[in-house]
Amino acid sequence: MNERVVCFLIVKLYFTNSLKLPFMDIIATNNLAVTTPNGYSEINTLFGNPANHDGTLNKAWEAANILVAEPPAGWKLYYQNSPGSLIPVRGIAMHRLLKDSFTQVLTDIWDYAKNQIGNNASDDLVRNWLHDKRLDQTGGGFNYRKSSGNNTVLSLHAYGIAIDWDPAHNPHQKPLTKTLPDWWFDIWSTHGWTDGRHFNTPDPMHVQFATGA
Ligand SMILES: [Zn+2]
Repeated sequence: MNERVVCFLIVKLYFTNSLKLPFMDIIATNNLAVTTPNGYSEINTLFGNPANHDGTLNKAWEAANILVAEPPAGWKLYYQNSPGSLIPVRGIAMHRLLKDSFTQVLTDIWDYAKNQIGNNASDDLVRNWLHDKRLDQTGGGFNYRKSSGNNTVLSLHAYGIAIDWDPAHNPHQKPLTKTLPDWWFDIWSTHGWTDGRHFNTPDPMHVQFATGA
């Protein structure tokens, strides 16, 4: 082998093995390379601390970080006030750093539905399919409060990094009771989110962009 061939092979190896894979993983998992934080210390570093020293909500933090993320085109979301009462909403209040990830998740859910229906399903058919499964019904995102499982720490809803879905049929209780499908949880997981199915008291309505909290 001459020098040029050796050089080419080294470069090729570098890009296929060393550089490409980790780089592609980060891009595939999160658009802005926001990696899922583990524990409250990493959560505070990434998203900021929503609390004042006295425990009240820091309004300046809220103004700087919380926005209403609208779903991608085609979607219609509802706030599930109670099982029989749905209120159309423009979007879900959450931390600005999760807006792109939220859009990607809902795009993947939409595409999954469209694929299941087949024959290049119309937007109306996709919306009806999602609505039948109540995948368009939220219990809310940002909500400044203590954790329901441990009142010495803030809920991840207080950071705007947790969202509840169809709470009426996916309650926070033992034993695990859920209607949200496994493929739906898998899509969230692909984008770096975890969920409450494994909590001591299962909370399947709950998805969060964090582990260890
Ligand atoms: Zn929740």
